[in-house]
Formats: sequence, structure tokens, C-alpha cells
Amino acid sequence: MLGVFAIPKTMRAVVYRGVNDLRLETVPVPRIGANELLVKVAVCGVCPTDIKKIQYGTVPPPRIFGHETAGTIVKTGARVKNFKVGDRVALHHHIPCLKCHFCRHRAFAQCETYKRTGITAGFEPAGGGYAEYVRVMDFVLPGVVKIPARNTFEEGAMLEPVNTVLKAVKRLNLLRGDNVLVAGQGPIGLMFTKILQLRGINVLATDLLESRLKLAKKFGAKWTQLVQSPKSKAQSYRPSTLDIGHWTLDSAIIAVPSDDAVHQAFQLVRGGGQILLFAHTKRSSTLTAVGTRSTASVCSTFNLDLASICLDEKDLLGSYSADFTIQKEVSRLVFSRALDVRPLITHNFPLEKTAAAVQLAASPKPDSLKILVTP
Ligand SMILES: [Zn+2]
Ligand SMILES: [Zn+2]
Repeated sequence: MLGVFAIPKTMRAVVYRGVNDLRLETVPVPRIGANELLVKVAVCGVCPTDIKKIQYGTVPPPRIFGHETAGTIVKTGARVKNFKVGDRVALHHHIPCLKCHFCRHRAFAQCETYKRTGITAGFEPAGGGYAEYVRVMDFVLPGVVKIPARNTFEEGAMLEPVNTVLKAVKRLNLLRGDNVLVAGQGPIGLMFTKILQLRGINVLATDLLESRLKLAKKFGAKWTQLVQSPKSKAQSYRPSTLDIGHWTLDSAIIAVPSDDAVHQAFQLVRGGGQILLFAHTKRSSTLTAVGTRSTASVCSTFNLDLASICLDEKDLLGSYSADFTIQKEVSRLVFSRALDVRPLITHNFPLEKTAAAVQLAASPKPDSLKILVTP
């Protein structure tokens, strides 16, 4: 039985055909080369970066999205050595070359090889997880992780987002006992909260939703605080409402795309502290910097006193995407359940409901966190 999978000629896939236009279509099952794998998708996470591409049309159609993928290997190319048919695996669609100028500076997300997507279900490679089968190309094979027997495909699909979070945490200079604000307690914010707590950090968790703060407590937040509900789109995260009493913040992680939260963090973080942006992935959001001659066009709402960076030595930094070199640590964290990702998964949609899954992930409800799609 093992080693034999009947592979059909065609499969169902959700094809991106234009802005907010996802269609269930029948497409060919991808062919694989000698150094490649064919994986039957068990589950694929809905990720904010894909939502953005679908809602704003930032890349040309047609494509098949979905990159937080776990499944079973159903076919291996003739020259594949380390994997066999039947292996349950989690996939990574971006892998850095580890040799180029960017990689030598550990700026993996800027590496040209990293920017190539190595998993596809057809069309221009875009992850392909919203389909029944995906082709895993040779250059991303180093990122394929076997899922232990005791763990689920769902846990496997969470490796990629957890990796991005751990990578960001490693960018901060933190000591045990430090106080850190995590603004936003969606699935990503909750992962930050737990990983920081495991490192002996006191986390102040904030969110607009009470239900998420309850979960933040379970994920190890020392303090939680509800921030005011949005009155308008432009001001969805009011800074004046956060009261941290007499203790100071060593760092702040902004896991919501809110400029107000950044502004607030600049005021609250101590001198020499760090403010890390994790959710500001949409281009063209600008800010006015006090003290510069050339003020950029103002779309955003706050002034940043550049002396807070120079004189107060506060660092503003960002983190994007994953770090391939911490993969083992991420696997241990998730598969040992030191970071138990299972409570983060609240919805699982069938493939034909992918558009609804994306919709829910884009406008979360009080009871929704991580949303998955199961072909
Ligand atoms: Zn993702
Ligand atoms: Zn590189």
C-alpha cells in the first residue's frame, strides 16, 4: 500500500483571476522534474500577505495562492534522495541561497533566490496551496520539514508563520524580565506573546477585541489592555487610551498595520529601546518627520521627532518573512507544543469556500483567529 498513490490528471484549484476574484477551476495536476516532489495538500493557512495581493491586485493574474502548506508526498522525482512517498511534510515556498551579499548579511528576504517562489499548482508560481496538489521545486527542498507522527498537518502548516515571528523576536535586544508591548493579538500577535513569555519577557498585550485579550492571557501575557474601538478607518488604534502606569517599555512589537500604534510606541518605549514593525507591509504609508527638510507626502497621521532616534537612541526596525536558518528551532517549538498553535486555529474551510476564508481572515470576527483551507 505504502508508496502507491493514484494521481489524477486534473484537480480542483482556486485560481486568482483579478482583484477579489477567486474561482474554483479544474486545472492539470502539475508535472514534476527529477529533483522535485508532488505533494497532496492536506491543509493551507490563509496568510495576510496573500489577502493583500488578492484584495489590491498587486500581482498580475492568473495565480494560485496559498503558501502555508502541509500535506503528503505522493510522488518523488527520480533523483530525490531524502524524501519518500507517504512522508507527511510542511513546506516553505521561499529559501535563500545563503551565499549572496544579502544572505551573508542575514537579510534573507532580500535575496534574489529567496524571492523566487518554489511551490506551484500551475500558472506563475505563487504557493499553490489552494489546490489539491502542489509541485515542490528543487531549490525549496531544503525547506521541506517532516511532520512527526504525533503532530497534525495543521501544526505543520503553522511553521512558516511561527518562523516569521521568531525571526522578528531575534532582531530585538531583549533580556529576561524586560517589558515588551505586543500591539495586536491576532494569530501573529499571540505567537509573539507566547514566544516572548517563554523567554522570560513580561508582555503587555493590547487589542481591540476582549476575546483576543483573554487568549493573550492564556498565551502568557502578564498584562492586557483593551484599546478603543475604531471610530474611523484612519484612526483605528487610539494611542491615548493605553495606560501602562509607572513601568517602562523596553520594546514594542507592532503586529497591527496601525500608524497610531507606532506613534504611541515611540512615546512609551524607554531610551535605547526598540520599536519593531511587523504588519506595515503596504507600500506608500508615509509619515512626517519633524526636523527633516524634505517632508514626504503626508498620508499618515503622526509626526516623528527624529531626535527620539538620535538623542534617545530608540531604534525603529522591521522584520519581514522567514529565516531559513532557524527552521529547526521553529520545528521544535511547534512540534513539542511549547508553543501550542492548535488554539490559534479557529476555522477550516473547504477549498470551494476559499473566497469566504479570505474574506473572514481580512475582516476578523471576535471568535476568528487563524483560518485554514482544506482541499
Ligand atoms: Zn504567510
Ligand atoms: Zn542569497
